[in-house]
Amino acid sequence: MNATKHTFDIVPDEPYVYEFTDQDVVLDLHGISVMLNYERGATEPRFRHAKLIKVATTRDFETARGFQTIDQGDLAPRTGLLFGKYPPSSNEETVPDLPSNMLAQPVPPGLQHLTPKQLETYYWQARNHEGCYDAIALFQYFIDLFPASTRLRVRSVKNDSPKEYYCLADARTIHEFELTDQLSLNMVSVLPERVTYISGLGHSNCHAVLGFAPPGRGPYFPETVLDLASLQFGEAGRGFKGRGTFVLEDTEEYVSRLATFSRAHNFEDSTRSERINEANIRDNVWLVTLAVKVKERWDNRQFVPWCDHCGAPPSLGHRLLRCSQCKQAYYCDAEHQLSAWPFHRHFCQTI
Ligand SMILES: [Zn+2]
Ligand SMILES: [Zn+2]
Repeated sequence: MNATKHTFDIVPDEPYVYEFTDQDVVLDLHGISVMLNYERGATEPRFRHAKLIKVATTRDFETARGFQTIDQGDLAPRTGLLFGKYPPSSNEETVPDLPSNMLAQPVPPGLQHLTPKQLETYYWQARNHEGCYDAIALFQYFIDLFPASTRLRVRSVKNDSPKEYYCLADARTIHEFELTDQLSLNMVSVLPERVTYISGLGHSNCHAVLGFAPPGRGPYFPETVLDLASLQFGEAGRGFKGRGTFVLEDTEEYVSRLATFSRAHNFEDSTRSERINEANIRDNVWLVTLAVKVKERWDNRQFVPWCDHCGAPPSLGHRLLRCSQCKQAYYCDAEHQLSAWPFHRHFCQTI
């Protein structure tokens, strides 16, 4: 896989100056984020073909089978997820891992009551452990497949009003910052290997997001933040109006939301960079393969739509529902349409 590398020099405090042409490729940031996250979650190597066996919450967290004991003072809430990973049958090998097929069969006692939204939270809570760098690398590999003049259409909602601007896809910045005393502790164990991933342990944890700014603004102070791994913080990490599976929002609103993740943070003093340090990435081959797949889906968007909430394509025998108002957005079902509506309603007529 050969991704074209092109760099864009960031000069602190100097706004980008560039002129757009009609020939530029324009990518909708929300649309590509939904698809990139879908493909990442569906094939995450750590959880590939893993099924959820047990959910341990604060009360039984320390004693659940497969979890080690942790003393983390008064931190709350705590979630422990136990997955079982067993070789798939030959007809399951290519089936994507999704919240809808994540439960072990027969459904273990104690998990029958889980709603689709809870399953979705646990799904992303597990996959987003240390997932922020993977998500940023995937984004980078994806953009690298397009010409250097490619633009992003950035949509967000601020104070209940839609905001929209276009920026150069290369004019993005990685912001790495410290979260001090995270307010939730999430632990995931995968059997039979008994590999455990923990998020929120310790006094200080590093988190990374992407920042975007319209032309004329210095990239060091982004106007919009994209946090593709926000659900590692549990429900608090849900996107707009507590519905989305990632965060794409105004920087001011994102920074105030950080108080729901941790007691303190240093977002304002983030370490800024243009490209990911590839040494931090677990599996580049997997991510580059995904980037190519998402580009194929994007290039084919006139013919095969995707769910505007979760990024799923239509599946065999299952067509997506289309927004009856704008006829431009598609959804798996009424529930995903409802989840996407608080964001989509601001853009429904204008897409
Ligand atoms: Zn969906
Ligand atoms: Zn619509």
